[in-house]
Amino acid sequence: MSRFQGKVALITGGGSGIGRAACLMFAQEGAKVAVVDLVLEGAQETARIIAEKGGEALAIQADVASAADAERLAREAVDRFGRIDILFNNAGIAPRGTILDTPEEVWDRVLAVDLKSIYLVSRHVVPVMQKQGGGAIVNTGSMCSVQGFPNIAAYTAAKAGVLMLTKQMAADFKKDNIRVNCVCPGTVVTPMTFQVWRNQGKDPATQDTSRMQTPEEIAEAVLFFASHAARQISGETLVVNGALTF
Ligand code: NAP
Repeated sequence: MSRFQGKVALITGGGSGIGRAACLMFAQEGAKVAVVDLVLEGAQETARIIAEKGGEALAIQADVASAADAERLAREAVDRFGRIDILFNNAGIAPRGTILDTPEEVWDRVLAVDLKSIYLVSRHVVPVMQKQGGGAIVNTGSMCSVQGFPNIAAYTAAKAGVLMLTKQMAADFKKDNIRVNCVCPGTVVTPMTFQVWRNQGKDPATQDTSRMQTPEEIAEAVLFFASHAARQISGETLVVNGALTF
């Protein structure tokens, strides 16, 4: 299947976890991929795997919470590939804490990386899509976008914002044929989850992952939203959590 032949996808947090899975799957289906990550080595490794399988990718080091980096990463992607059809705003961090034990600088960083980054990056990609006559944006939310959990206040505030910013952008750019949707993963087997376990003093090797999602299972939903099959879907939220809530 080559749903994305001739398309260009720009994916943040593409050096690990859900972002890497999405990069590989978009490339597998024909897209050229701009892989963005805070750590260049992670992005380069994803790009290397894509190239090894015959695909085309560009690794870009950038902090999505930086306005200057957001401008540069979009420019580098367009300079290399000439267009951007798909933007997957996925980079994120998830420090724990209630409002009482979250230091202000941590609160500000989480809001910047998980929420403000979507504003920063999209404002350089949307004009590219407007000129092209359309595009698809997918934002990574969380179960924390739709309900509260103990001890994760800044993340929940940011991810709730991601959900409504998705709907707002869908409304604003409907006229430009740009669709904007949000995928909300449950608990996914990625380095982020391993780090949470370590912070709780748990050994990742001893955790039961049987009810958790794989990065690829989340990426499936991202590819659907970006695909022609979802051409009438915008402003929507898809929870992908293996019925965790039931
Ligand atoms: P991950 O494996 O830690 O991947 C996140 C990637 O984002 C990492 O490569 C990380 O880089 C990168 N990143 C972090 N801050 C960045 C920044 N400022 N600029 C650019 N890149 C940055 O985690 P994941 O589980 O795949 O998470 C991906 C998304 O899914 C996040 O938005 C997360 O909140 C969301 N999510 C995850 C789960 C879960 O259970 N894992 C559940 C719900 C939602 P470095 O690590 O190299 O610094």
